[in-house]
Formats: sequence, structure tokens, C-alpha cells
Amino acid sequence: MTPPVISPTGGWIGTAIFVLIFLAALALFGLRSGKLVALLAKARPEDRTDHLDDRIGDFFLIVLGQSGVLRDPLPGLAHFFTFWGFIVIQFGLLNLILGAFNGSLPLLGDNPTFAIILDAFVILVLLALILFTIRRGIVRPKQLSSSLHGPLDGFIILGLILLVIVTLALVEGFEYAASNGAAWTPIGAFMAPVLSTVRPEVNVFWYRAFWWLHILTVLGFLVYLPRSKHLHLMATPFNVFFRNYNSKGALPLLENIEERDDYGVSKAEQFTWKELLDGYACTECGRCNTVCPAANTGKPLFPKEIVLGVKESLLSRSQEILGEKSVFTRFEDKPVQDEVPEHAPLIRGTISTEALWACTTCMACMEICPVSIEHVPKIVDMRRSLVMEESDFPQEVTSLFNNIERNGNPWEISNDKRAEWAAGLEVPLLAENPDADVLYWVGCMGSFDRRNQQVATSVAKILKAAKVNFAILGPEESCTGDPARRIGNEYLWQMQAQQNIETLNGYGFNSGDTHNGHAPGSNGAAKHRTIITACPHCFNTIGNEYPQLGGNYDVVHHTVFIDKLLAEEKLALPQGFDERKLTYHDPCYIGRYNDIYDEPRRVLTVLNNNGITEMRRHRNKSFCCGGGGGRVWMEEKIGKRVNQTRINEALETDAEVLAAACPFCITMFEDGVKGVEAEEKMKVEDISEIIARAIDAKVETR
Ligand code: SF4
Ligand code: SF4
Ligand code: SF4
Repeated sequence: MTPPVISPTGGWIGTAIFVLIFLAALALFGLRSGKLVALLAKARPEDRTDHLDDRIGDFFLIVLGQSGVLRDPLPGLAHFFTFWGFIVIQFGLLNLILGAFNGSLPLLGDNPTFAIILDAFVILVLLALILFTIRRGIVRPKQLSSSLHGPLDGFIILGLILLVIVTLALVEGFEYAASNGAAWTPIGAFMAPVLSTVRPEVNVFWYRAFWWLHILTVLGFLVYLPRSKHLHLMATPFNVFFRNYNSKGALPLLENIEERDDYGVSKAEQFTWKELLDGYACTECGRCNTVCPAANTGKPLFPKEIVLGVKESLLSRSQEILGEKSVFTRFEDKPVQDEVPEHAPLIRGTISTEALWACTTCMACMEICPVSIEHVPKIVDMRRSLVMEESDFPQEVTSLFNNIERNGNPWEISNDKRAEWAAGLEVPLLAENPDADVLYWVGCMGSFDRRNQQVATSVAKILKAAKVNFAILGPEESCTGDPARRIGNEYLWQMQAQQNIETLNGYGFNSGDTHNGHAPGSNGAAKHRTIITACPHCFNTIGNEYPQLGGNYDVVHHTVFIDKLLAEEKLALPQGFDERKLTYHDPCYIGRYNDIYDEPRRVLTVLNNNGITEMRRHRNKSFCCGGGGGRVWMEEKIGKRVNQTRINEALETDAEVLAAACPFCITMFEDGVKGVEAEEKMKVEDISEIIARAIDAKVETR
């Protein structure tokens, strides 16, 4: 280790004082960090150690590469430089600290290349700070504010980072001047013409003064960091590393539901440790608020506030959770934000029930979050508590629950009538054709809703045209339970799921079964059996959630199946048959939930040479129709209507047809078209209806 040219502490007394302050700062940092970890340890356990390769890969991409924040170019770049500047400056800091002990950082301490890199980051971070200050102080985008605390915290952190940068530059400047250029750094050399005119002992004095100020600022930052919103700097790398690698579309299973005392989350500590870590990791960037259909239409739901609400409730109740005797609560017994009342309850405290009911579970918030925060499971966890522990839910869903339970569908209609839509279409029941290759899962909307029965008819027509050996379950099919689960009635979902799994397994559709329910072929191999459905909600819950109860099926959305039929030339369509200008709405439950974006577009493009005129928000940025998460069954009493907002976006494209791929979307959009009085301008059609019309005109099958 090369000793510094000038001792920054001026002798052993200064060094001893430094050591004492340093240890005190470490202790304060450790106390707060220990408390945060202790709170996580009290939460529900959850295993997030699978997919180690992916975790490491994504850590590099999202944490080190900052790919999440870079989706927003300007603030993204500023964050990128601040993040890397933060890391590089730590090495510079270590070097300064070692100076107190008459040493320096091996390899880097007196390395001019490192000095250049360090100073480049000093400048870049300074530029980033200017941008952040303009954004926070002048532009003030709405998404940066929070109802749980004011903007002061953000400015304190900006001020501290600025002080760190400025004092570092001054340390370099005065050290260079005091050492006659022996301690070379670009910033030192830059300041030399001014500082070299000052007497050497004055330069030494100011070098030491700024060294102390720099060190004290950094230590102050260290103490303040875990107590501030910038806690995310510490938590984000862990949060990204422990992100979810299971099916995006699957809500967590409430295990042993018959024997439990709790049925959801009403207190922060009932979340899993990962759900709580989300709160620590939130950067408060507000990106989630900007894409939320509820927030965008005046509902009292802001996904950022959900995440922060969980954190605030957790921290304000830390004494209760950790116990008064805990070393952490004895020293750390104040809530972080004075504005939050002590012992803030979660639901109806930091989070309102109106916010919870406004969510469409569209997952736009999770998709855009740069630090892999999972909002939807939290919202549903709290809904579960409201529904199953308190029976507190919008009264209009009472009949939904009752009907699903009694009739196996959301209406007061006997399930015996489930196959009536197919009368005269010669669609066999699975009971009549148990060896069918394909089961068409019609779903409640396709079976009973008059508008969506037309979609079911179109799907059947396509399957017949392609000579697919298929059947439907008819009265043996029961609601998948998806709306019940999203609304929070996990009990009802499990009942429905078990019943359907029993039926499907009875016909041998479980992909784990030997020979998959079919007699083996001459080569002894099992025949492949598929379930197709036109409902993204059925598709998601059967495909991603039924495995939680032992039902593993090959489920395909009808748009994907049609795309495959076309690719395999089992279905030929008259190219360019439908040249109307069309736009396509990506349903959340096949798009963001299951990454199906290309197949529906490919299918539509076969018929339409002009392709698709995309809406402003499409693919993974698609804006929900407003019907998911059980919202289609609830009244929309607050703000603008989500469906009309989306219809207005569709109208901006001047398309004549809004192509859809979800029965709930169709219902919501047809209402929306009426609501904005655009019936003359725009038709809403399922992709299968467009295809079926082409088949009627000309069918070419092999
Ligand atoms: S899932 Fe959709 S509606 Fe719910 S909070 Fe997220 S963005 Fe908003
Ligand atoms: S939850 Fe994610 S997107 Fe929303 S404010 Fe926090 S970090 Fe930003
Ligand atoms: S109904 Fe369609 S757009 Fe609406 S939430 Fe479901 S999939 Fe999304």
C-alpha cells in the first residue's frame, strides 16, 4: 500500500476520532438494517431459491445493467450513471479511508486510470443530480409524489449525494495542490491553476477539512439511507435476485384452506418476506401509477401507494411485531415518517378498501416496474382477507359467488343448459366422443352470454373446417373459478378447480397420466390431447393455476391454436379476405400474463393485407379493458370508465374493427363503444369471428 502524500487526519488522535465516528455510524446503520431484516424474518416463509441460473443472469441484466430503468431513456440514463457512480465512488471512499491509516487501495489507490474513471463518474453523477433536481423541483411529474409522505426525503438524499460529490472534488483539488501534483487526479489538475496560488499549508488545511466533511457526509448518508426512501439502493439487488420465476399468471395457493385460521392478509407481517422486501425495494419512481388503468381513470388506486402502504404499516408496527424487548425496537422505535400514525393498520389504514376493489389485476404495474415488484398478489391477498375473513366486498358480487357455487356459472341459469348454444351445430359432447383429440373449453361467457355465444359458434366452425376431432364438456364443464379467485374468494376457486380437475382427469386429460387417457397407438405412444379455450381467463387459470391442485393440462388459447392450424396448412384462408382497417387489443391475460402477442397478429394478418394499425398502447403496454380481476362483475362508480378510455384509444387509430380475443374484453368494449356513441364507427369482433366469416366465404382444408 502506498501511503498518501499527506495524512488526512493529521496524526493518530485524528485517526482515533475517525475510528470512533466510523464505528458509531456502522452501529446505527447495523441497528436499522438489522431491524429491517428482523421484520422480514417474522414474515411468512417463501422459497425463492429455484432457477439459480436465471437469477444470476437477471441480476447482471437488471441490477448491473439497469435494464429496467433504462426503458425510460433520460431519467434511466441518469439512474444508470448514479448507480455506477455510487459503486465507483465507494472504491474512492475506501481509498480515502485507508489514507487515515497511512495506506491506500492496492492497485487502485495511485492508479491514474482509476482516477480518470472516478472523476468521470463524479461529473456524470453531478449531471444526473441536476436532472433529478429539475425533475423533482420544477417538472414535478405527478407519479413522483406520494400521499404517504412529502418530497423532503427526496431532496435530503439529493443534497447528501451532491455534498458527497462536491466534497470529493474539493478533496482532490486541495490534495493535488498541497502535494504539488504528486496526488494526481483529473479534477485536481483542473483546479490547480486556482489553488496553486494559495499557500501550501492553507491547501493542507482545506484538504483535511474537506476530507472530514466528505467522510462525515458519507457516514451520515450511511446512517440515513436505511431510514429513508433510498433504502431501495440496498434492497433492490436482493429484490431482483429473488424475483418470481414461476408462472406469472398464477396467484399463490392458499394451502390447507380447510384447516387455516387466516385466509388472507390483514396485517403486514402476514405477507411473505418477499412481498415485504418489495416495499423496501420500491424506488418510488411511480412508473406503475402511470400505466395503471384505475389510477388513469380517477379511481383511488395507485399501485405505488399499495407497495408503500404495506411498508409503512410494517414499519409503524415494528414494536408490536418484534416485541418491545428486541434490541432493534429499543433503539429504533419511531415510525420512519412522522405523518404516518403509529401502529397504522394495513387495510383501511395505509391502504383503503376502495383501492383494493379498483384493481383489474391487469399486471401493467408489475410489467413496468424496474425492480420486479409484485403488486397483484398483494392486492389479492388483502382482498382474500376482506372476502373470507370479513365478508366485506362490493354487494354486487354476492350473487356472482352464490351462482358459481350453486349453478357452476355466474348467473341464475342451470348448468344443464351449458351446451344449448351448440344446438344444431353438431358439436359432440366429450361423453359422446371421449377419444376427442381436442377439448374445446367454452367457458361461462361462451356458453351463456348471447354475444359471446357467437364467438363459441365461430370457434366450433373453425375446428370443423380444419377437421379437428374435438368435443365440448357441456353440463360437465363448470366455471373455472377465475373471477372468484381474483376477487379474493380462494375457497370458491379451489372448489371449482377441484371439481373441474376431477372431470378433466376422468377423461384422461391430465398430461401426467399414462397414455393421457387414450389407448396407446400401435407404437405404444400416448396420443397428445389439448384443451383449447377462447377465454384468456380460463386459459390462464387452467394452464397456470390448476397445476397447484394437481391438474396439469396442455391448454392453448384459440388464437394460438388457429395460428398453428394455419402454419400446418390444416386451415387455408382466402388471403386478403377482410381488408377493413383493424386494430387489435392485447388482452392482459394472454398478453402480459402469458406473453402471447405474435400469434393473434399473425392470424389477423393472413386475412388482412394491410396488417394491424396498432394502438398507442399495445403488446405488453396494452391498457386493460377494465373487466379483469372480477371488475366486470362490479359497478364502476368512481372516475371515468376504463372501457371507454380504451375505446377512445382504439378510435384514435381510425380503425373500423377492434379485434379482440377475450369474452370479457368484448363485453366491456361493446359497452364502451355504446358509451362513447361510436357504434357507427367501430365494431368489436373476436378474431375467431373474423376467421369464421372468411371460412364461410371460402373454405380450403386439406
Ligand atoms: S394490476 Fe392493473 S389495475 Fe391493478 S394496480 Fe396494477 S396496474 Fe393497476
Ligand atoms: S412499485 Fe416499482 S414502478 Fe412502482 S414506484 Fe415502486 S419501483 Fe416504481
Ligand atoms: S377482460 Fe381482457 S383486457 Fe380486461 S382484464 Fe381480462 S384479459 Fe385484460
